[in-house]
Amino acid sequence: MHKDAKFDTMLIHAGQKPDALMSVNPPIYQTSTFAFKNAKHGADCFAGESDGFIYTRLGNPTIRSLEDAVAALEGGFGGIATASGMAAVTTVYLSFLSAGAHIVSTDAVYGASRSVLENHFSRFGVEASFVDSSRIELVEAALKPNTRLLYIETPANPTISITDIAACAELAHKYGIKLVVDNTFCSPYLQKPLELGADIVLHSITKFINGHADVVGGVIVAKDPADHKLMYNVMTSMGPNMDPHQAFLVSRGLKTLSLRMERAQANAQVIAEFLEGHPSVAWVRYPGLPSHPQYELAKRQQKGSGAMISFGLKGGFEAGSKMMDSVKLATLAVSLGGVETLIQHPASMTHAKVSAAAKQKAGITDELVRLSVGIEDVNDLLADLQQAMQG
Ligand SMILES: *Cc1c(COP(=O)(O)O)cnc(C)c1O
Repeated sequence: MHKDAKFDTMLIHAGQKPDALMSVNPPIYQTSTFAFKNAKHGADCFAGESDGFIYTRLGNPTIRSLEDAVAALEGGFGGIATASGMAAVTTVYLSFLSAGAHIVSTDAVYGASRSVLENHFSRFGVEASFVDSSRIELVEAALKPNTRLLYIETPANPTISITDIAACAELAHKYGIKLVVDNTFCSPYLQKPLELGADIVLHSITKFINGHADVVGGVIVAKDPADHKLMYNVMTSMGPNMDPHQAFLVSRGLKTLSLRMERAQANAQVIAEFLEGHPSVAWVRYPGLPSHPQYELAKRQQKGSGAMISFGLKGGFEAGSKMMDSVKLATLAVSLGGVETLIQHPASMTHAKVSAAAKQKAGITDELVRLSVGIEDVNDLLADLQQAMQG
C-alpha cells in the first residue's frame, strides 16, 4: 500500500502482510503459542530482537493485522486490540491512573466507563469528576493538580452532545494532562481525534468498526510510542487481549466501514428530519440538524453526522415504553453501530441504574428514545417509526 493511500484504500489494505502462501486475507492463527526455531530464536523473541510471535496473550498475527489497520486509520503509532470495549477503557485507566490520581470525564460518558471509576477505581484511591465537557470552562474548572487524564466521549451517549476535541487537547496539554477520546460513535471514518490533538483514541469495536453485531471487542490507538508501549505492557500483563477468531471477524467487518457509514448516516438524516416534523415528537437531537446545539462544531470536527439519533416523545416515559412495544422492523435492543436499526429507551434500560439526579444532570430524560440507524431501506424504516408512534 502506498504511504499516501486514502482512507478507503487503507480500509481494504492496511495491516495486511502476505503470508508464506500469499493468502489474500489474514489467516486465523488459532493457536495459543508459537514454536521457536531454536534456543537463540526464542531468546531473541523475548529480547524483542526478532519480530516472531511468542504466545497469543503477548501478540498474534491475526490480531496484529487488525491492530495495524486501526492504527493506520486513526493515524496513530500503534494499536492494541482488546476483548471488549470496556477492556480498552480499563486498560487506559490502569495505564495512567495510580493511587491519588484524578480523572476528569464527560458526564454523559458510557455508563460502564463511569461506574468502573465510581465503584472500582475509587477502591484504589483514584478520584473522578464528571462534567458537561461540551462546555470547556467546566472542564477547566474541574482540573486539579493531581489530574492525569482528561477523558471525553463525543458524541456522548445517549444525549449526542458534542465536545470540542481540539479545545480539550489544548487545555489538557497546557496542564501536562493526556487527552483520551472514546471515538466509538463516529469511528475513524467520521472523526480523527489524534489529528485534532488527542493523545489516545479508543473504541468499542463491537459497534461501527465491526458493524455486524456479532463480536464484542475493543481497540486503543496511541499517538506517542511511549504511551503505546506502556499500555501494551499493561494489556499483555493483565490479559484482556482479543482472540484471533474475534480479530478475523472484525477485520472482515472493517473493510466496509465507509460504505456502511455512508448509507447509515444518509438514512439517519432522513429519519431525523422526519422525526423533527412529527407531531408526537417533542425534540430531536442529531448533529445533522441545525437545531443541534453544537451543529457548527459537528460540521467542523466530524466528516458527517453519524447514525445515532436521540429524540423525546411528548408522552414521556409511557409513550417511550409504548413505542418500544410497537416497532416491528427496528429491533428493541441495546448496543449500536450494526447494519440493523436498533431502538432503546435509556431511562428504563441502559441507564435504569443511574441515579435520578445523575440522569437529570446528564440530560438523560424519561422521554428520551435512542435510535441506532442501520442500512435498511429508509422508507421501510420511516413506515415502521410512523406506525409505532401511532400505535
Ligand atoms: C459499547 C460502548 C463501550 C463499551 O464497549 P463494550 O464493547 O460493550 O465493552 C464503551 N464506549 C461506548 C461509547 C460504547 O458505546
